[in-house]
Parts: sequence; structure tokens; C-alpha cells
Amino acid sequence: MSTVTDQFRRVFGEDPEGVWEAPGRVNLIGEHTDYNNGLVLPIALPQRTYAAARRRVDGTLRLSSTSGGEVEIALHDIAPGVPDGWGRYAAGVLWALREAGHLVGGLDIAIDSTVPIGSGLSSSAALEGAVAAAASDLFGLGLLADDSTRTTLAALCQKAENVIAQAPTGGMDQAASLRCTEGHAILLDCRNGHVSQIPFELRSHGLVLLVIDTKAQHANSDGQYGRRRAACERAAAELGVTSLRDVPYSHLAQALHKLEHDHELFARVQHVVSEIQRVRDTVEALEAGELAEVGLLFTSSHLSLRDDFDVSCDELDVAVDSAIGAGALGARMTGGGFGGSAIALVPERLAYDVERAVTNAYQRRGFTKPAFFRATPAGGARRTE
Ligand code: ADP
Ligand code: MG
Repeated sequence: MSTVTDQFRRVFGEDPEGVWEAPGRVNLIGEHTDYNNGLVLPIALPQRTYAAARRRVDGTLRLSSTSGGEVEIALHDIAPGVPDGWGRYAAGVLWALREAGHLVGGLDIAIDSTVPIGSGLSSSAALEGAVAAAASDLFGLGLLADDSTRTTLAALCQKAENVIAQAPTGGMDQAASLRCTEGHAILLDCRNGHVSQIPFELRSHGLVLLVIDTKAQHANSDGQYGRRRAACERAAAELGVTSLRDVPYSHLAQALHKLEHDHELFARVQHVVSEIQRVRDTVEALEAGELAEVGLLFTSSHLSLRDDFDVSCDELDVAVDSAIGAGALGARMTGGGFGGSAIALVPERLAYDVERAVTNAYQRRGFTKPAFFRATPAGGARRTE
């Protein structure tokens, strides 16, 4: 019997009808490209959020999370920013399903999670995905059936996060949580939602993907995220394109020439357009088995995010530099930046050396002790019990 089932019984006094799970994710490359209609390449993680759920007849949603406490709200009261706190991510999903015309009633839901919260590994989309999976099955919506229905569900989870949780994020996290398959990264084209499953296998190359949780989260990262998005929109408008995706890499020099008067837009465009190309190059290198090249692309991505997009921080830079210094083939920040996590592509035999090097460097700088795990590509949301 799972802990989340126990938790459900303790809190709600009866058995759940089932348990659903959805993963966090780590993005291999393609950062700050999703809201520019670009390309991203995430894997789903074995770390999951679990939702034990049971239908109610009275149109009330009751939530209980081991990491958030309890929330109760009538479905018709869910609105932008309501309920406040963590419950809005879960409530938002039911709101989005109802907005889309699905017949969804009240629920009791107990939540437990192994996804680190606020570490840039998308605990928010894992929470949304687990609740969405439960609601889809319990109300007979069939939205877990295949990639096309999962695409619909991912869009509704994104709407929940954007409108009810009021976080202006792109669609990568929800797509990863709902559309990834075991052993693969997804190449997601954010212009049309198209996904290609890209085999991602490191063991036969003697490599591991080390995730370094910096434990740092700098203030106002949300505000910075909004400013970067706005700058990208301004740049697209100045260049006369719908989004920066419409600037081909082969036209980057001309585009930059037009932005020479504005250093900020110049640097942002330089990052976004080159990063989209790095995603393509990474897929090509993975398919050719050229993992050293993948490492170099990770590092170039980090430098571009640090110097041109200006979303790194000391903790991320120290993690990347010391990982590379200790033998990683490449490393980069992953997620929105200003804290969160970094990833490093590391020969298995050097993995502990890299961990030690990063830990020592953090100690020298007086940073909070970082955490590490080795990421393997897992499958998307599903019913567990
Ligand atoms: P990330 O998605 O990178 O972990 P976010 O800031 O997008 O970071 O989302 C974190 C927020 O999501 C938390 O502050 C909380 O409100 C909510 N959340 C995620 N997982 C849980 C959980 N298991 N229980 C309660 N709230 C959660
Ligand atoms: Mg999130």
C-alpha cells in the first residue's frame, strides 16, 4: 500500500478510487525558447508527484499535500489567483477542464511527491499532471489515451498554470510530464506542439546525466522571467516577425545588425536564435552517438544563457565550472535560471569526483550545500494503482 493511499485514508477517512502519478522533468537543452515558439528537449524524471483521489458529489475540491497543507474550495469559486498558495495549481486544472466543456465534479485529492519543489525540475507541472490524470480517468474523459489527447491535456494544464496560478510559463513542462516516454527525450516544437521521441541512452557510452540542485532561488526570478519574455516580444516586433522562431539561424547576423542600437535586444536575440540551433545540433549529435559534441553544446548553451540572456547566477556558474573542471564533457544551467538546477554530462567513473568538486567549491564560496542525483529518462503521467 502506498504512502499516498495511507495519507488519503488518514485525511479523508475512506479509500481513494485510485492513484495517479506524473513526473518532474529536466530540460537537456533549449532554454527560454518555448515561449519564442522554439525547440526544447526535455526528459521526464523518475521523480514523480502522486495523487490519490476520490470523486465527491457536491462540487467541492479538497486537497491535502505532504508539502503544502490543506485547501478546500468550491469548484465554481476557482478563479485567477484563487485559491491562494499551492492549491491553485491543482484547482486550476479542474477549472481548465471545466472551461473546455468537460463534465468534471468535486474531488478529494491527497498529494505526495518525490520531485524537489522549486528546484527548476517542474514540480508544478508534475502536480498539475497528476491531478489532470486523476480527473481524466475518474470522470471518463479519456485524455490519457494517446499522444494527441495528452497534448490536449498538457495545454489545459498550461492554461491552469498561466491563468489560475498566474505564472506566465511556456508549455514545455506540461508536455514533458504528459508526453514523454521511457528511454527518450522529447523534441518539442513549440510552434505547433509536434513531438518527436529521441532515444536518450547514456549507459552504453559510459556516461551519466548528473543533476546538481543548487538549492538557490534568487528573489524576483518571476519578474526577471517576465522581463525576458517581454524583451523577446519587443525584438520580434522590431524584426517584423511573429516570434523569434521565425529568425532562421542563417539570418542571425542580419537580424543582429538591425538591433545594434539596442544592446539588450541584441543579446537576447543572439541567445534565443542560437539556442534553437543548438537543440537541432544536439539531436543530430545524439542520433550520431557523438556524446562529446553534446557536452560541448551544453556548455555553449550555458555561456549563452549566462552572457547573452543574463539568467544565470553565481551558484549555477560555480556548479558548471567546477563540473567541467572535474571532467564533465559539458554542463549547463537548466530551467528558468537565477537558481534551480544545473546538469552535467559526466563519465560514470568521474561522477563522484564531479560531485565532490562542486560540493567543495560551494563550501569555499559559503553557498548552501548542493544536492545531486543521476537522471534517467522516464515515462509520462499514468495511473499507478
Ligand atoms: P518548479 O516547478 O520548478 O518546482 P515552481 O515555482 O514552478 O517551481 O512551482 C513550485 C510550486 O508548485 C510550489 O511553490 C507549490 O506552490 C507548488 N507545488 C509543487 N509541488 C507541490 C506539492 N507536492 N505539494 C504542494 N505544492 C506543490
Ligand atoms: Mg514550475
